[in-house]
Amino acid sequence: MNSIGHFVSNEHWPGTSGRLGDVINPATGEVISRVTLATKEDVDTVIGIAAKAAPGWAATPPAKRAAVMFNFRDLLKRHIEELAVMLSAEHGKTIPDAKGEIARGIEVVEFVCGVPQLLKGEYSEAVGQNVDSFSVRQPVGVIAGITPFNFPAMVPLWMYPVALATGNAFILKPSEKDPSVVMRIAELLAEAGLPEGVFNVVNGDKEAVDTLLDSPLIDAVSFVGSTTIGEYIYQRGTAAGKRVQALCGAKNHMVILPDADMEQVTDALIGSAYGSAGERCMAISVAVPVGEGTADRLIEALTPRIRALKVAPYTDPSSELGPVISKQSYDKIHDYIDQGINKGANLVVDGRGVELQGYENGYFIGGCLFDNVTTDMTIYREEIFGPVLSVVRAESYDQAVDMINDHEYGNGTAIFTRDGDAARDFWSRVKIGMVGVNVPIPVPVAYHSFGGWKRSLFGDHHLHGMEGVRFCTRLKTMTTRWPSGIRTGAEFNFTAGKDA
Ligand code: NAD
Repeated sequence: MNSIGHFVSNEHWPGTSGRLGDVINPATGEVISRVTLATKEDVDTVIGIAAKAAPGWAATPPAKRAAVMFNFRDLLKRHIEELAVMLSAEHGKTIPDAKGEIARGIEVVEFVCGVPQLLKGEYSEAVGQNVDSFSVRQPVGVIAGITPFNFPAMVPLWMYPVALATGNAFILKPSEKDPSVVMRIAELLAEAGLPEGVFNVVNGDKEAVDTLLDSPLIDAVSFVGSTTIGEYIYQRGTAAGKRVQALCGAKNHMVILPDADMEQVTDALIGSAYGSAGERCMAISVAVPVGEGTADRLIEALTPRIRALKVAPYTDPSSELGPVISKQSYDKIHDYIDQGINKGANLVVDGRGVELQGYENGYFIGGCLFDNVTTDMTIYREEIFGPVLSVVRAESYDQAVDMINDHEYGNGTAIFTRDGDAARDFWSRVKIGMVGVNVPIPVPVAYHSFGGWKRSLFGDHHLHGMEGVRFCTRLKTMTTRWPSGIRTGAEFNFTAGKDA
């Protein structure tokens, strides 16, 4: 059976650990390969390699670093079919969805191809007599990235192209559930001309993560994953003096006003609630129709569409949603559905019990729809991360906004309406990091930044765009006096503006 090791100094490295984890095809429940789980010693070895490579890469002119990114972008585009199949085999999502996430990742690489422009500093002539001031942004050093299973290609690509282009070395610890696509992309990055040791992949679990968090040679940590783990990463990483951004879980609401086009709303909800089996941090998991009439029309429009969803493995080109990632996840989603029923929510569409011939052990769940969910229910408060949409009926627009603002998560939200006044009021008032108006999954393009508010993000910086550049760099400001021969005499007072 194929065994996946690490990728270090531009080549595969088995490491010294005897510990292995199973990589499972979620469509069949079969173990398809084994992934090495690094020991502390192995991770420390990789950290040492990255730390050694970092200064040379930081000193490489940004235009030369960008040249590697141009090559990398071309290689990703050329290999997108192969990468998508590799990704779907371990994750379970459909091939078009896998290609979509790789394409969104490539956009970040394209963004950093312009890194010389992004790193241009500021200059002020004559802040005092013969005194000029300027600022530059310099790489932080070695950055570690810890990423989730649900976007095994895209989420890492949100991080390391920005880190590398701005002159940092990077160590990626991908999800142990679907690591293969990352390993193949690492080969492409080496082929693109990245010097040895600048980008490395260590596979592993908590032991690997804790080693990265504690090492004095790691300067910053980017994390994407669940809130429980993200909060832990933030606290342990910042306690060790690192810069940390931890992007976490979500419960994204879509508000539907009475004037919304119900066909457009239904299309939007079908894709955003059930696409990728609901395993997206920007999935809409709560629909909030305003007014009983809007709610009734919504349920009527959605029900047949959810029942008609094609649940199938990625190998079936007509599949609209594949299996969820693991048996554990499958059981957890079933448990949430039971809790919803027990608490009195109305399960209008029950997606349990899907049976596919030849895939009896796969983790398939069809689309589920709950009506009459209330805000005290667990299925409303917690992230289910499966194909389950809850409808919470709101009496008024203000009640809908308050509901969103009171929720502990603040990743994404959307409003569907034809009323421009309401739309503007909505995006201005909601306490959420990413807002869509008639757009159900408002994932920002690469040159803007991705990130939530409240318990969906710990730390200050969002990912990619200028926020990503700021996270990966430190500001340095110089104040210089030329010609050097001018004497000003000793000055004991703090006289700003005189001669700086
Ligand atoms: P997860 O938190 O279980 O795992 C994420 C990473 O943390 C993995 O690399 C994993 O190996 C590591 N990890 C797991 N347990 C750990 C522990 N005890 N100590 C140290 N490291 C540990 O998340 P997941 O199930 O892979 O991904 C799904 C979650 O990610 C969902 O909550 C989803 O909302 C979230 N997510 C958020 C965003 C965002 O941008 N906000 C994007 C994608 C996914």
